[in-house]
Amino acid sequence: MSTTAIKSCSTTTCSFNNGGCTAFAITVGGTGEKASCTTFVALDARAGLSSASGQVGACKRLECVHNTDLLCTAGEIAIADDAECLSYEAR
Ligand code: SF4
Repeated sequence: MSTTAIKSCSTTTCSFNNGGCTAFAITVGGTGEKASCTTFVALDARAGLSSASGQVGACKRLECVHNTDLLCTAGEIAIADDAECLSYEAR
């Protein structure tokens, strides 16, 4: 199984956002109709990898069509400006 790349992330208030996601691996969670990145953190710092090559490490949204065993199987995902996973699709 391969990991899922974060194609784009528009949440520029996140400390891991530096032209995209620089976290090594994010966790996606949230409740209801929206799935969201729970790795989001807004600190007075920029952190993470030196390039925007973040991946999805785990996803708690078992009901998403892309979720298998709490892992994301989508080829890539996009994150909106409010940390929402735009690739979420309920079964
Ligand atoms: S596409 Fe689905 S399984 Fe993948 S990170 Fe988003 S909500 Fe989780």
